[in-house]
Amino acid sequence: MAGKRGQRGGAAAPQAGEVAAQPAGGATGRTASAGAAWEYAPAPESREIVSISAEYGLFIDGDFGPAADGRQFPTINPATEEPLAQVALAGEADTGRAVTAARRAYERVWGSMPGAERAKYLYRIARILQERAREFAVLESIDNGKPIRESRDVDVPLAAAHFFYHAGWADKLEFAGLGPGSRADRAAAADGAGEPGPAGARGADGRAVPRPLGVAGQVIPWNFPLLMAAWKLAPALAAGNTCVLKPAETTPLTALLLAEVCQQADLPPGVVNVLTGAGGTGAALVGHPGVDKVAFTGSTEVGKEISRAVAGTGKRLTLELGGKAANVVFDDAPVDQAVEGIVNGIFFNQGHVCCAGSRLLVQESVADIVTERLRDRLAVLRLGDPLDKNTDIGAINSREQLDKITALSAAGEAEGAQRWSPPCPLPERGYWFPPTVFTGVSQSYRIAREEIFGPVLSVLTFRTPEEAVTKANNTPYGLSAGVWTEKGSRILWMAQRLRAGVVWANTYNRFDPASPFGGYRESGFGREGGRHGLAAYLDA
Ligand code: NDP
Repeated sequence: MAGKRGQRGGAAAPQAGEVAAQPAGGATGRTASAGAAWEYAPAPESREIVSISAEYGLFIDGDFGPAADGRQFPTINPATEEPLAQVALAGEADTGRAVTAARRAYERVWGSMPGAERAKYLYRIARILQERAREFAVLESIDNGKPIRESRDVDVPLAAAHFFYHAGWADKLEFAGLGPGSRADRAAAADGAGEPGPAGARGADGRAVPRPLGVAGQVIPWNFPLLMAAWKLAPALAAGNTCVLKPAETTPLTALLLAEVCQQADLPPGVVNVLTGAGGTGAALVGHPGVDKVAFTGSTEVGKEISRAVAGTGKRLTLELGGKAANVVFDDAPVDQAVEGIVNGIFFNQGHVCCAGSRLLVQESVADIVTERLRDRLAVLRLGDPLDKNTDIGAINSREQLDKITALSAAGEAEGAQRWSPPCPLPERGYWFPPTVFTGVSQSYRIAREEIFGPVLSVLTFRTPEEAVTKANNTPYGLSAGVWTEKGSRILWMAQRLRAGVVWANTYNRFDPASPFGGYRESGFGREGGRHGLAAYLDA
């Protein structure tokens, strides 16, 4: 196995140009306020709401059980390095069993179930997620390291919203304008050139319903473990597919709790299966001949491997990969609002966000004032215990990721950029990295080109809108971008020219289940969310 947990070691080593790690109470004490403006009393969320078992099994065919060969791996709390549980490591035999269970459930129950009935299960899952929201939020923060404020206010509500939204689609697929039953298809069929929908798959008014694909193999990363599970499962299930989900090695616990919710919702056995494990488990799932559709979110490197593995097999594929988004601030933007957007763009979820605004492009005439206000704002961000409700910046998810952020930041300094972090004591144990800003960044520097996936911002400047577009598009990625200006016409002008799947205007990191999300080029292909996201799970 990849053994990322095994590579986790002690606290972050002090970096050149930043303050040395000092005790800050660890994840059980006070949250370390970077600024001296206010002292915050600790406001920890109670851990008691979650009961973490010593061991977790695989979720196959409606039941939890050990891996066939009995192998396990540990999952730990990245804020404290405390071992949380031993989790089953799925091998090839387990993958085969899960795919077989999913196929059986697809053929016998789920694929032929009327959409209105499938909708009831999705709705039930959404309701249970809401009822158990606090439990999910605490568990996510413990296993992932993200602040409770974010898991409570973003991850869990959005996960429930995805199930609610897709529950609404399940009995309306013939109205989505996709595949058999769509307007175009019916017109073609009327000319004798098209194929009507499958016998028996007809909506209330006799329209043919687009067909599901079959068994979906879904591999997700560690940055939004529950939310990514919801992004994958909800549209697949609404469209009538069954699923085998592989969560990331470092964050398996909320996917397993979601499996428990599937049991609680009486979802028929085999409709959702969860295989925990490392990269090898993901590769076995993606390569299994019984999988009809592969959906992957993660690094561009692994996305390319998966593309190669799937090529020529006839499997459908969607890839949601990395990014190096430009957040563009014009001189007419309201500075304080833009600074909040910059902070949200790169420091939300410790910067472990594929669409993070990791390159700030600021118009030269306001560069000084924007960076000055940004420093003031960073000075009052609070880093520390993820379970403390005051915390803005939590722990880095793994030792491996911390090493990557550390190495890329060192490269930024070596290449000549100026590094700045607020005075920010780091807890003694766990994986921590202070919010960091690089100014004087040139487009050729690695910190301007590579996905750092951490709380590190590279600041570049521009003079004209044309230059902003050229610099923003100077990346192999194309996932997202932000524009800050008071002129609506300029927003539209920029949005037409930015080569990014999502462009936010005067806001950043806004997500909605009805809105398609996805990228171009090295950021992958296919969309998740909205009608476009459904298309990825239908024969359309
Ligand atoms: P990966 O792309 O390796 O992991 C994503 C998921 O794919 C995990 O479930 C992983 O399992 C699984 N996986 C790994 N190898 C394979 C394979 N060959 N076939 C099928 N599935 C596989 O991301 P990492 O966690 O290793 O992070 C590495 C870098 O990727 C980060 O530093 C970051 O830059 C970037 N990243 C980008 C994300 C994004 O959304 N854009 C998300 C996560 C990472 P396991 O966890 O067990 O290895």
